[in-house]
Amino acid sequence: MILERLARGATRAARITHTEHLPPRIGSHADWPEQIRPEVIAAIRSAGIDRPWAHQARTSEHALRGESVVVATGTASGKSLAYLAPVLSRLLDGSEAPNGRGATALYLAPTKALAADQRRAVRELAAPLGTAVRPAVYDGDTPVEEREWVRQYGNYVLTNPDMLHHGILPAHARWSSFLRALRYVVIDECHTYRGVFGSHVAQVIRRLRRVCARYGSEPVFLLASATAAEPAQAATRLTGLPVVEITEDTSPRGELAFALWEPPLTELHGEQGAPVRRTATAETADLLTDLAVQGVRTVAFVRSRRGAELIALIAQERLAEVDRSLPGRIAAYRGGYLPEERRALERALHSGELLGLAATTALELGVDVSGLDAVVIAGYPGTRASLWQQAGRAGRSGQGALAVLVARDDPLDTYLVHHPEALFDQPVESTVLDPDNPYVLAPHLCAAASELPLTASDFALFGTAAAGLMPQLEAANLLRRRARAWHWTRRERAVDLTDIRGQGGSPVQVVEDGTGRLLGTVDAAAAHTTVHDGAVHLHQGRTYVVRHLDLADNVALVEEAHPPYSTTARDTTAIAILETDTEVPWGDGRLCFGSVEVTNQVVSFLRRKLITGEVLGETKLDLPPRTLRTRAVWWTVTENQLDAARVNPEQLGGALHAAEHASIGMLPLFATCDRWDIGGVSVPLHPDTLLPTVFVYDGHPGGAGFAERAFHTAADWLTATRDAIASCECEAGCPSCIQSPKCGNGNEPLHKRGAIRLLGELLRGAPREDTP
Ligand SMILES: [Zn+2]
Ligand SMILES: [Zn+2]
Repeated sequence: MILERLARGATRAARITHTEHLPPRIGSHADWPEQIRPEVIAAIRSAGIDRPWAHQARTSEHALRGESVVVATGTASGKSLAYLAPVLSRLLDGSEAPNGRGATALYLAPTKALAADQRRAVRELAAPLGTAVRPAVYDGDTPVEEREWVRQYGNYVLTNPDMLHHGILPAHARWSSFLRALRYVVIDECHTYRGVFGSHVAQVIRRLRRVCARYGSEPVFLLASATAAEPAQAATRLTGLPVVEITEDTSPRGELAFALWEPPLTELHGEQGAPVRRTATAETADLLTDLAVQGVRTVAFVRSRRGAELIALIAQERLAEVDRSLPGRIAAYRGGYLPEERRALERALHSGELLGLAATTALELGVDVSGLDAVVIAGYPGTRASLWQQAGRAGRSGQGALAVLVARDDPLDTYLVHHPEALFDQPVESTVLDPDNPYVLAPHLCAAASELPLTASDFALFGTAAAGLMPQLEAANLLRRRARAWHWTRRERAVDLTDIRGQGGSPVQVVEDGTGRLLGTVDAAAAHTTVHDGAVHLHQGRTYVVRHLDLADNVALVEEAHPPYSTTARDTTAIAILETDTEVPWGDGRLCFGSVEVTNQVVSFLRRKLITGEVLGETKLDLPPRTLRTRAVWWTVTENQLDAARVNPEQLGGALHAAEHASIGMLPLFATCDRWDIGGVSVPLHPDTLLPTVFVYDGHPGGAGFAERAFHTAADWLTATRDAIASCECEAGCPSCIQSPKCGNGNEPLHKRGAIRLLGELLRGAPREDTP
């Protein structure tokens, strides 16, 4: 019904390309296993839950048997209770132990906000159990004077992988009594541990298991995940242990109407005169406004921090025209806010004081935002797992709810709103991570050696690549071998060698000029493109312009301003092949996978008119180049193939460039990545291959597994790429097919028809099986 109201009017209705009705599901109950203590069952009852869902009972059975288990069921299916019942039960058993300290459990969340939320939940649930359960958060915000209490008395410690990495494991001796008694490790939202971050967390978990073994404990791992393909396999890769999976969701669900929404074409023209669609940002702001006017509680999920700010700002302005009391009931929520600001927003959403929130994925994870009627997703979030996670936030218990995916003007989103089967008839993707990446593994070997000297018997735990890295670490004077063990002998902390979030250096602080007020932070990797001199920066509805980016001190000085434009950075990229690992002939051409060095430099920025995106002008920048050693997939074509594809030398650059853009846009459908996790370069004559070449590389040092996945699914991936370009209704290329918002070259040159013919010719030579 909400959808019907939103779609009122012919122009609005035409924007809905598809509506999927997901039927309600009836729940199925079971009984708690006998070993769950009656006090725990009573506490769960007093929380209003008489009997568990079948998947909760089954998960707890495995946990009680000492088998590591992953529960991968939908949002709001009660995954927490599935692991809390056995964990609390075990904590009670231990509380009667004569030696004082009973069993302990460790809970890991990907964000501090989620850990804080979970502590509230555990406190409430375990209240009837008295002091036998002592939940405590241990993270960067925990006051120093409370930390000793947590180590000595906390028996359900909630933390994050970052704190485990640089706070708990290096100080394991002070945690000895906790670690000796550790029976369970809960890893919540474990599908978020993917790519480089996931690979780091996998190694942190191996270090934890190793330290536990020293204290004589062997904890069982209980993992919870949004629905994911092959969750047992991913959990095994993450923990290094065999893991059982529970995937059948037996909880009830209300009906969900899921609409796919394509913004209309505008009168405006973009780069190279291409037709331009209304932005997903403007469209989402409209939907959020309409829903708020109707009193519908909504969260709009937005990819970028800036987008979240902008949507909240536009919606507030529109609402002010309707009712002066409404603008205050919409806000933005994103990472980079100070913790107090975020807590206050979470509370306001809980209480209903806020009607609408434009949020980044900082809110997507477990943070309890129950009671929403609608979810608007501004742009495909990159994975089906994430899409369902966000859509699943809509719906109060048993009631019908609405989800809307608003397409951005890019090849993948355009393809998806016209191919609903790619969203609704496909399983969610599996999690890609690569713990053997030497850039990831090496610093963890150093950290492990500083925790307890390393011996050859540890290599099995850290993976096949570990032994081969030891001579390099010795040669670099990081580790020293004495007798049969390797030691960390340097004065620095070994854990400071790496940043597990892969942010590549300290974040840049955004400071208001004049007042010196700290507004927030920006990741080092994003600083050159987002807070360069002259960049427009948004923070909680206020607009700032960067006066100066000081790279030496990692500070961006900003001042409040109201420019009628936003800014986009431009960059140039060169690539060199370091080593080719695998090479497969595709007809005359080649498909390759290997190591590359990418040199990137942000050279200028464009000013674009707000809302319409029209380009107003370009300003040069003077920033140093940055290099990245990573993994890439690349393909080459020969003179014969160019002839067969009727691509002449004038069209060649544009055809390759167009194929590169579109293939980057489509890769998230095949590898669990964001288009921002990967980059590309196309060259008519590459100095290393001496042929026309297109590269797609992982945007993280050492690679993240995405380019490798692209290599293995290349025939399907490039086929979908060609189809996406060919089916676009534009004449010569537009953002829905071959133009890229990320292009360092102003989307010049691009040749749409040449790209279609070239990809067709290349694919003609592709091996029959999809795995080369
Ligand atoms: Zn197009
Ligand atoms: Zn480009």
